[in-house]
Amino acid sequence: MRVVVAGVPGAGKTSIMKEVAMKTSHRIVNYGTVMLEQALAKNVVSDRDEIRKLPITLQKELQRDAAKKIGAMSDVIVDTHLTIKTPSGYFPGLPVWVLEELKPDLIVVVEAGAHEIMRRRKEDRTRKRDFESYEEIEEHLKANRMVAFACSVLTGAPVMVLQNHDGMLEQAVEKFMEAFK
Ligand code: AMP
Ligand code: MG
Repeated sequence: MRVVVAGVPGAGKTSIMKEVAMKTSHRIVNYGTVMLEQALAKNVVSDRDEIRKLPITLQKELQRDAAKKIGAMSDVIVDTHLTIKTPSGYFPGLPVWVLEELKPDLIVVVEAGAHEIMRRRKEDRTRKRDFESYEEIEEHLKANRMVAFACSVLTGAPVMVLQNHDGMLEQAVEKFMEAFK
């Protein structure tokens, strides 16, 4: 099975994936990490949070190369984004040519409350998270949902909306694992 997992930064995709890794034989691949490897090799960034600030043409190139690499893998769970907030606006993480490479069987959208997301971003010292107001996070969450359903229509893959509220990680992981039964 090929699964795409997406959500706004701070929704908790990576935390869920850490738990899922112990329960599945699927390979878990972080799309941003694949892009980062290429970007580092090209000497255009020094960390993953600089990728979204690159010129869009360059982001598209890195995105396309990563799609080809990940598309060649089977039984994979891809940790990625439906929309990426760039200085030019929302950049699609899964345009049709990426979907054609990834061929997802399932699209999982990880969500949490905007206040929870705000706090998680503030507390995460490992990343250079951009500040978004409560209203901006709400807009970003809405944009992701819309794009998830658009991707669903384009691919025929169902959408699972996964709530990852504070203290509910275990339940989110359990619901995610239902898809593999
Ligand atoms: P993450 O660690 O998931 O936050 O990903 C790091 C960065 O990789 C993101 O901020 C984006 O710039 C980039 N990225 C991840 N997935 C995609 C994608 N599907 N398309 C374009 N850029 C992506
Ligand atoms: Mg992450």
